[in-house]
Amino acid sequence: MIELRNVFRSFDQDEARVDAVRGIDLTIERGQFVAVIGPSGSGKSTVLNLIGALDRPTEGDVLLDGRSLSKCSRTELARLRGLTIGFVFQAFNLVPGITAAENVALPAVLLRKRPAEYRDDVARLLDLVGLLAKAERLPGQLSGGEQQRVAFARALVMDPPILLADEPTGNLDTKAGEAIVDLLEASHDAGRTIVLVTHDLRLASRAQRIVHLRDGEITHITCPSQRDRRLEEILEVGDHDAR
Ligand code: ADP
Ligand code: MG
Repeated sequence: MIELRNVFRSFDQDEARVDAVRGIDLTIERGQFVAVIGPSGSGKSTVLNLIGALDRPTEGDVLLDGRSLSKCSRTELARLRGLTIGFVFQAFNLVPGITAAENVALPAVLLRKRPAEYRDDVARLLDLVGLLAKAERLPGQLSGGEQQRVAFARALVMDPPILLADEPTGNLDTKAGEAIVDLLEASHDAGRTIVLVTHDLRLASRAQRIVHLRDGEITHITCPSQRDRRLEEILEVGDHDAR
């Protein structure tokens, strides 16, 4: 379970102070698929980085399974990130000089696992994302959608219970983006907790709950129903007709 308790995060910029997150309370149950939506600058990435222990709140606390992150040492946080949380970013963030398979293995290598411990997982995950045949390619020899699928496989190599994705479809065309959200959905079905940051309402509608952010605050939380999903499909058909 992920809990944010009265979380604030401010940044000092030159003389000004930016209040990126302003008093957020949010509980995400284990195994839930939550989307965070809001305009650019509304604090989505800041919230995700706080959940993922990549950043610390200025005030308030983040708890993972009841454990307060503010009480963890840097070493404990690094270990927690490595074992508990998988990240997928908009910019893929693959290491350019190593192969797809080596990129997927990276979190395991950083945690000093032996190749025998992760070799099968790397192959299984590359197969899951449809890239087993391209395992030996460098990131530069893959399309954007393929690179993001490698990043997705990398996020899962330690089998983390939580998967955080920050605009993972932002640099992809519609079809490649849908493939990534299909993978997120499959990983939710497999029991993971998913937090997806996006500004695409259609993609957000595939989550169980949508948290709406504006100016660092939660304005409201919605639950997309089946009916809403169908509405989205109708709207999509309308789009195609218009072209
Ligand atoms: P979003 O992901 O919704 O676009 P962010 O969480 O990235 O929004 O940013 C929220 C606000 O905080 C913005 O005004 C942004 O400029 C500011 N901000 C985010 N990170 C930093 C930082 N490291 N230093 C200074 N300001 C930041
Ligand atoms: Mg962002």
